[in-house]
Order: sequence, then structure tokens, then C-alpha cells
Amino acid sequence: MHDPMVMAFGIRRPWPKIRRPHGSNSPRWGWRRGSCFAHAAGRELYFPSLITVWHVEPHGADALRGECRGTRWQWHIHHWHIQWNFLQNWRRRLLTRCAWCGGRSRKGDAVNHSHQWGGPKQPLWRGERGLFHSDCSSVERAHNLCLCDDPLLDHGDYGQCAFCGKFRAWRKTPTDADRHLAALPVGSRIPPEDIPRLQAMWQEGRS
Ligand SMILES: [Zn+2]
Ligand SMILES: [Zn+2]
Ligand SMILES: [Zn+2]
Ligand SMILES: [Zn+2]
Repeated sequence: MHDPMVMAFGIRRPWPKIRRPHGSNSPRWGWRRGSCFAHAAGRELYFPSLITVWHVEPHGADALRGECRGTRWQWHIHHWHIQWNFLQNWRRRLLTRCAWCGGRSRKGDAVNHSHQWGGPKQPLWRGERGLFHSDCSSVERAHNLCLCDDPLLDHGDYGQCAFCGKFRAWRKTPTDADRHLAALPVGSRIPPEDIPRLQAMWQEGRS
């Protein structure tokens, strides 16, 4: 499947959750290097993620098959997409709303995508700000993207466009998928029936 995201860094909690093993043939003791699972005395130890930093390939190309291939891509801070896994679940469920659709965070549909390093700076008793559902994050990005044919950007080849007031990243050309997402109403999510079409567009966009 097409996916422009690849994990750049992951930081795990240093203490595990202890679970019963899934299979009957799990080892009693053992740990594979780089794995988030370990086994001790027949129990399964799982180390949950605290922070995951993803690299998003520009132009929606497949991860590390576009222009970032062969570069020090882990350090492309401007391509980072940070997932804050550690923020307390109860707070998220009770208080946090998606900054795009206003919807709640649910299991399997979490509001945990942010566009900036530094994270939400809100006191604990308030909901987090600047967090999105995964699909809302792409729709929001598309709505902030300058789609002009001949943009006038304040930094020459990137920045804010004087015509539409929206933004264009360096060497970014809007794709059909960007235009499709930008045409969705403000605050709306990607309709499930659009997903096959969008995947076809992303497929076409790579070469
Ligand atoms: Zn990059
Ligand atoms: Zn949302
Ligand atoms: Zn523009
Ligand atoms: Zn580019």
C-alpha cells in the first residue's frame, strides 16, 4: 500500500505493561533487539510508545522513494509529523477535541497528530490544542496549501502566497489529491467512499 510516512524516531516508555502472552508457543524468557516486546517468566512485557516521529515524504510520494531518498531524511525537521502517544488517555477522551472536525478521540480513531514540534502547551485540566485525527490532519494541511497556478510566495520559492494567503512548501506542487482534500468543506473528514479514489490519486502521483 502507498504510504508517504516512515518512522524516523520512536521513544518508548522504560517500564512495561505486563500481559499474558498471546500464543502458547511464546518463549518464557527473551528479548529481541529493537523489539517492543520481551518475555519474562512466561509473561509478555510490552513497552508502549511515548513519542513517535514520522517523516512525511513531500508530494505524497512513497516513503523514501521521492526526493528525500538517499538523504539524511531522519533530520528533515520540516517533514516531521509528531505523534504524542504519552498524553494521558483519560484527558484525551474527556477533554480533547480535534482541532479540525471538533470530534472526540476514540480508540482506533485517536486525536493525537500535531503539526509542530514542542507539543500542546495547555494546562492538564484543559483539553489539548492543535491535535487532529489522522485524516483531519491531511484535510487541514490541504486547506492551508496554496493551490494557485502561479503563486507569489514571500520567500521566492516557498512561504505565504500574496494572492490567496495560504502556504506552499519548498518544491511542493499541489497534487490532484491535495485539490480533492482542499475541496472538502471546512471541518469535514474524508468520506469513506472517497478513500479508494484518493488512494488511486496517490498511486498516480508517485513515479
Ligand atoms: Zn524529507
Ligand atoms: Zn478530526
Ligand atoms: Zn496562492
Ligand atoms: Zn519537494
